[in-house]
Amino acid sequence: MHAPSPIKRRHSRQIHVGHVAVGGDAPISVQSMTNTDTLDVAATVAQIRQLETAGADIVRVSVPDMEAAEAFGKIKREVQVPLVADIHFDYKIALRVAELGVDCLRINPGNIGREERVRAVVSAARDNGIPIRIGVNAGSLEKDLQKKYGEPTPAALVESAMRHIDHLDRLDFQEFKVSVKASDVFMAVAAYRDLASRIEQPLHLGITEAGGLRSGTVKSSIGLGMLLMDGIGDTIRVSLAADPVEEIKVGFDMLKSLKLRSKGINFIACPSCSRQNFDVIDTMNQLEERLEDIMTPLDVSVIGCVVNGPGKPRKPISA
Ligand code: SF4
Repeated sequence: MHAPSPIKRRHSRQIHVGHVAVGGDAPISVQSMTNTDTLDVAATVAQIRQLETAGADIVRVSVPDMEAAEAFGKIKREVQVPLVADIHFDYKIALRVAELGVDCLRINPGNIGREERVRAVVSAARDNGIPIRIGVNAGSLEKDLQKKYGEPTPAALVESAMRHIDHLDRLDFQEFKVSVKASDVFMAVAAYRDLASRIEQPLHLGITEAGGLRSGTVKSSIGLGMLLMDGIGDTIRVSLAADPVEEIKVGFDMLKSLKLRSKGINFIACPSCSRQNFDVIDTMNQLEERLEDIMTPLDVSVIGCVVNGPGKPRKPISA
């Protein structure tokens, strides 16, 4: 048994993305996004299955046009994990994927255009029990906000989010979650902290365009780590210029570090030094690879000598 996390989570309203609860007392879910061509149904299904095997709770798929919406319907029939359709601007795509069984729509109401279009999307979402994710991104702020603030700022991100939220509020639709992503850690953290104090809906955390496997992991861990430590965040996506499966692994490692989720092996390993009695690094790499399919929460220690391992003296010498 692992000790519970000392983090006190912000109390958010709970929504459901398919069978996965997000917010409230639900575990923080880990999600990723496919990077295959959505029109290539077989490749996209194969990647979603890899993500499912890695433990993904939710998977997002880009649906740029109506042809992709039809492909999305075929993909949806082949997989179990809840799917979010990522849609920009074209409300008709949202209406079509709602018919095809989508589990969540990522669409910004303020970008859809005329009020009746927003109304149509919200009605489809309401009738089918589909939540919406409002996804604000520092790189694509509305022109008037860019002009008002001069450059992306936390206040600009939050103002944009609140506008989209107002659209849903006016239609009395509360089944949504929100993200305010930026590549800059300070900006994202400040925006999420501000937003967390304004709304009760769940927050989807992410540092966008974080970087490659190593640099993006570090940046995301710092940004999301600060927010998660504050108790902010109900679902996370680690954005890496890497295999999406890595995003899931890193996401879970983050949550495991903060004792917010326990899944699979929690490794404890010394960095190794000249005292090592075996090759610690090679052993660690092999164990990580060989035990990656284990989902049962377990602590595994790889300690190179007795100094910090069994029979450890009162004052550790190194590590
Ligand atoms: S436990 Fe510490 S002292 Fe022993 S091998 Fe590992 S790093 Fe070196």
